[in-house]
Amino acid sequence: MPITANSSQNKATKINVLAGVLAREAKKYGYKPTENFFDTVCLGTPDGTSAADVRKIAIEHKLNFQYWNDCPNCVTISFDETVVLQDVNNILEVLAKAAGKQFTPYVCTGNCVPALNIPEKLQRKSEFLTQDIFKKYHSETEMMRYMKMLEVKDLSLNRAMIPLGSCTMKLNAAAEMLPLSWAETCNIHPLAPADQAQGFIEMIEEMGQWLCKITGFKAISFQPNSGAAGEYAGMTVIRNYHIARGEGHRNICLIPASAHGTNPASSAKAGNKIVVVKSTEHGEIDVNDLREKAEANRDNLSCLMVTYPSTHGVFEEAILEIIKIVHENGGLVYMDGANMNAQVGLTSPGFMGADVCHLNLHKTFAMPHGGGGPGVGPIAVAEHLIDFLPKHAIVTVGGSKGSQVAASPYGSAYLLPITYGYMKMLGGKGLTEVTKYAILNANYIKARLQGHYKILYTGTNGMCAHEMILDCNEFERSAGVQVGDIAKRLMDYGFHAPTVAFPVHGTLMVEPTESEPLSELDRLCDALIGIRQEIREIEEGKADRVNNVIKRAPHTMGVVCADTWDRPYSRQQAAFPLPHEDKYWPTVSKIDDAFGDRNLVCVIDK
Ligand SMILES: *Cc1c(COP(=O)(O)O)cnc(C)c1O
Repeated sequence: MPITANSSQNKATKINVLAGVLAREAKKYGYKPTENFFDTVCLGTPDGTSAADVRKIAIEHKLNFQYWNDCPNCVTISFDETVVLQDVNNILEVLAKAAGKQFTPYVCTGNCVPALNIPEKLQRKSEFLTQDIFKKYHSETEMMRYMKMLEVKDLSLNRAMIPLGSCTMKLNAAAEMLPLSWAETCNIHPLAPADQAQGFIEMIEEMGQWLCKITGFKAISFQPNSGAAGEYAGMTVIRNYHIARGEGHRNICLIPASAHGTNPASSAKAGNKIVVVKSTEHGEIDVNDLREKAEANRDNLSCLMVTYPSTHGVFEEAILEIIKIVHENGGLVYMDGANMNAQVGLTSPGFMGADVCHLNLHKTFAMPHGGGGPGVGPIAVAEHLIDFLPKHAIVTVGGSKGSQVAASPYGSAYLLPITYGYMKMLGGKGLTEVTKYAILNANYIKARLQGHYKILYTGTNGMCAHEMILDCNEFERSAGVQVGDIAKRLMDYGFHAPTVAFPVHGTLMVEPTESEPLSELDRLCDALIGIRQEIREIEEGKADRVNNVIKRAPHTMGVVCADTWDRPYSRQQAAFPLPHEDKYWPTVSKIDDAFGDRNLVCVIDK
């Protein structure tokens, strides 16, 4: 059945009708249901019956309802579209028993025409899901082909390297993904009572200990649902710490100019004022500027947010001094752990003296990501911050002085078996090897590209960490080629672009990860060197400055195979610049991104 407005309404109607049956029948046993509801009915218990009485009998019947710490006479029950009438009767039997009443099953006879239990004025009258796409595919065959077509358009890790700097696009092993299809892992409710989730909790706790060891910290919270959410959670930990010490006025957060955009955003969201710290021309934090700003703000300094190795792809050599300066001025140090793929097993935020960090399990620890998929951004803390870890309104987790940051106590817990499998299968030694290969792979690319591209920042030994920045600014002057043009030309070569224009304007940031074999690293280097050669042809006047293979990239199959071809370069150069067995065809020709970003157009597909 296609997902049309009709089918969605049918589902919703069924849910609401069954919830209505529950509410009406429960009344017969003395319960007081909420008047208006969609899928969730809150029942006041009958006089002489408490929620605890209901809970006891519900557990005997293997049913979990929602109970509330602050309302001992409330039971909340929620339905989805998988519920059938028999389930409703099972629930009613529990409610009747708890109230000491005789249970009579609800039977739908002649005049029980299902009616919506939603007041007329709250019912939706407008149309929705009107686009064609919701009506087009009526069988599994059609649906499968539709999804395959979308997949072929996509360039994902199962076809090519995705060298997105700062994103750590490693290919996770199939064995790490398999547990997600097990009923034991995918059918558990986030708020299930602890004694019904022992296996899951054991896994979470064991993995928490490993991650504490890796970060050099004492305790961890899995509640944040992304790196940015981890930053926000870390900021609330720091804020609650200052408040507990009677220093709630501390609200200045120092952030280096090179920071990821989420840093100032999440810090500001947590109530901080941001003071930006300069970078030196070598891409490192300007320690003098940091010291000046820390001292100038010493009475109100809350913390520093620092990424290590930095988003410039180098191990900040002054990191220990930087941490010391912040501590001496009354602030704490938040380490953004997005680049942990260059630290695991070799060093750690705790070892360096930071106070709290987040991890991106969807970067360093193998969860697939991209396309906005779910993430997990746990935060780990040093001893003095344990009491401030996020707590939860219903489930006992975190510290007594923490703030809840997500609806579910362990965040996107369903994804945790991926990281568990990744760590368990690699072991400590394997995880350290991963870090070494990630750094080695990056330095291999750096060595091959040197001389073709300007590598923006390298440490004093001329090395990069696990990623590097290629400066493409000069090509704009020499050939009229912008960094976005290079990103699009890479599609013709069968590559996803590296990170464009972050953290430095006009650059590409390349991160290979340990996942990539030598052949793929070489293929990327060959492609980038090939593009450099194409730029040189423009520089030398052999190719036109506007009408050339880079400016007119990417090349779709439709364009290359058309009967007419009027471009000053060959079709082969356009589509097959280097031999590759698995030719990826971009599906859209060059569009003006900047124009698109500034002019939002809503196209109704009719
Ligand atoms: C990815 C990243 C973040 C944010 O993580 P999300 O999971 O995308 O919210 C923060 N800082 C750095 C350096 C990152 O690379």
